[in-house]
Amino acid sequence: MNLHEYQSKLRFAEFGIPTPQGKVAHDPQQVYEIAKDLGRPVVVKAQVLTGGRGKAGGVKLAQTPEEAQARADEILGMTIRGHKVLKVLVDPAAEIKAEIYLGVTNDRTARKPVIMASAEGGMDIEEVNRVSPEKIIRAHVDPFLGLRDYQIRNLAYGIDLPRDLWKQFMHIARALYRCYVESDATLAEINPLIIDGEGNLLAVDGKMSIDDNALFRHPDLAEMRDTSAEPPAETEARAAGLSYVKLDGEIGCMVNGAGLAMATMDMTQLFGGSPANFLDIGGGARADKVAAALRIIVSDPNVKAILVNIFGGITRADEVARGILEALETVKIDLPLVVRLVGTNEEEAHQIMADAALPNMVSATSLADAAQKAVAAARGM
Ligand code: GDP
Ligand code: MN
Repeated sequence: MNLHEYQSKLRFAEFGIPTPQGKVAHDPQQVYEIAKDLGRPVVVKAQVLTGGRGKAGGVKLAQTPEEAQARADEILGMTIRGHKVLKVLVDPAAEIKAEIYLGVTNDRTARKPVIMASAEGGMDIEEVNRVSPEKIIRAHVDPFLGLRDYQIRNLAYGIDLPRDLWKQFMHIARALYRCYVESDATLAEINPLIIDGEGNLLAVDGKMSIDDNALFRHPDLAEMRDTSAEPPAETEARAAGLSYVKLDGEIGCMVNGAGLAMATMDMTQLFGGSPANFLDIGGGARADKVAAALRIIVSDPNVKAILVNIFGGITRADEVARGILEALETVKIDLPLVVRLVGTNEEEAHQIMADAALPNMVSATSLADAAQKAVAAARGM
């Protein structure tokens, strides 16, 4: 789960990282009020879950409250890389003498967190990494020892940070690492960490990604999730406990188990179709879950056929069959429905489906048979 800039910076501030003390607004009038209260030039910043806002025109300076209101009017409603801007952060504008990059992430290959710093902070750290990776100084952190002071000094030295800022830099790097670990983050990044007009370090941008699997122990972070920034189907899938990823194809897949779901997607492609989604209903799925899954699948207008592929183990095939029928009472489905139910209690499952005699249902035996039938159905054959 990604946090917005303002959420990340609030979190950073809790760990003692200096950040501008701004506020979030949803309309230009609010922006005017905030800018007036701040009583100094401000920066109006689009809050969307994507980078490169500056380049896209989503970060604007304003000298007066009137100007801030006008900039907010331009930024609110903008679309930045497919993300609609619904709120802006109004921060006191900082004078920028230098832009530094400082970030912590997981290095999966090293199986350790890595802290990175660069004097080439600002808009395009990915570009710096591509063109001149040597300008990014890295230190791997032993998770049992934690970030050591000598490692931070090496970073400060490597980016030619003026000596009088080393103490502040040590403090910020320690705080960022602690914030990263204690938040179960997969990324905690300040870009840019600036040297401001008074010659102090200040985090003017912030980004955090939290490991979804750890959210259960961070209720305060979990409730920061901005569901307005994601497709409604993803919100519904999460609420129902389904693993769902939308794709661009035309065959809606409902499967139990991630491996089988992937195999099913591959099989649709093998026979010339393409999957509309990845959807794992998980083990022991009951009718309400099956219904939610079907509702999510049919909410995608690209879907031309539905492929249900259930391997009954702990999940009994007859339960799933009943689930499908119960689901059909609440979700109206006119699309062709190819159903393959095998494994535990499959005879009962087949009997239940046969008795129901659904006009749009096609039953299938093997996975190949099911995939072929789904592809044909999607083509209207
Ligand atoms: P991003 O483009 O999405 O990473 O958004 P940032 O928050 O990093 O802002 C982009 C750029 O806008 C920064 O690299 C700065 O150059 C500039 N910027 C952001 N805040 C301020 C500010 O308070 N004062 C000034 N002068 N520039 C700012
Ligand atoms: Mn940035």
